[in-house]
Amino acid sequence: MRRCYLIGYPVEHSMSALMHNAAFEELGLGYLYELKSVRPEALGRFTADEMRGEAVRGANVTIPHKVSIMGHLDEAYPEAAAIGAVNTIVNEGGWLKGYNTDGRGAMRALEETYGDLRGAKVILVGAGGAARAIGRHLSIVVDELSILNRTASRAESLVSGLKSLSGCNSTVTPAALTRENLKSRLVEADVLINATPLGMTPDTDKSPVDSDLLHPGLLVFDTVYNPLKTRLLREAEEAGARTLTGAKMLAYQGAASFELWTGVRAPEELMFEVVVDALRRDRR
Ligand code: NAP
Repeated sequence: MRRCYLIGYPVEHSMSALMHNAAFEELGLGYLYELKSVRPEALGRFTADEMRGEAVRGANVTIPHKVSIMGHLDEAYPEAAAIGAVNTIVNEGGWLKGYNTDGRGAMRALEETYGDLRGAKVILVGAGGAARAIGRHLSIVVDELSILNRTASRAESLVSGLKSLSGCNSTVTPAALTRENLKSRLVEADVLINATPLGMTPDTDKSPVDSDLLHPGLLVFDTVYNPLKTRLLREAEEAGARTLTGAKMLAYQGAASFELWTGVRAPEELMFEVVVDALRRDRR
């Protein structure tokens, strides 16, 4: 039995073990996914002592280790280096490779729902790890990308980082997350993405955008997946907009990690259903 870990702190509420173990079982693979709660000060030792043995195939990495883990790996795949964060490790005979599947997962979910994103005008709210991963992928494809963040300076540094990367084909601009900035940009926008925790359980009454700014021409993608239907998504539906839950991104980033570890096509539908079922059960 080979093992894959989720390394984070804390990790107890993660959906990943449920999702990956269901997928391993479905395909009859000899893998087991385990949660590992690792304090920041113990990350280096954990990586050195627990990750390089033959019994361990790899890991997912989550908050707060996605950036700091990079210093403990042997190689970062260019996509992870460009994003500046790793969410997946593959152990190749004791050599640890870092990947980032968050942006890929988000893009697959978005393209499946929206279609071809070339020419699209996109507003991305947030400038943390998730926004960095999604922003990198969007900046290769879309026409205009506005990044709005509570701390404006973080939006500015994310934008200058994205512009400095090769393959950036979009007009990328930063702004502070204010009603006025949202209002002026949303009128023309095709896609709105929330990459902040606003609206996540237990603060389900929160939303990054006032409901009167939403309109039928939008696709609204909330990376928050708990609850499945956030206040933002509910209000977007009421405004006639199309919506996309973060559970799709979660399943697709997980499927991409699964494929890196096993070399086998992931049962994506099953992974998505397992997450949705678990979240629905949580609500009862
Ligand atoms: P992070 O690195 O801590 O970044 C958090 C971002 O949210 C920052 O831009 C922060 O703004 C902003 N923010 C936090 N509290 C806020 C508030 N009260 N008002 C306005 N902005 C606020 O976290 P992350 O890793 O990017 O994750 C962000 C969210 O993405 C998570 O909560 C999760 O729901 C979602 N996510 C989903 C998936 C998925 O697979 N579906 C994967 C990864 C993440 P400041 O810079 O001003 O602090």
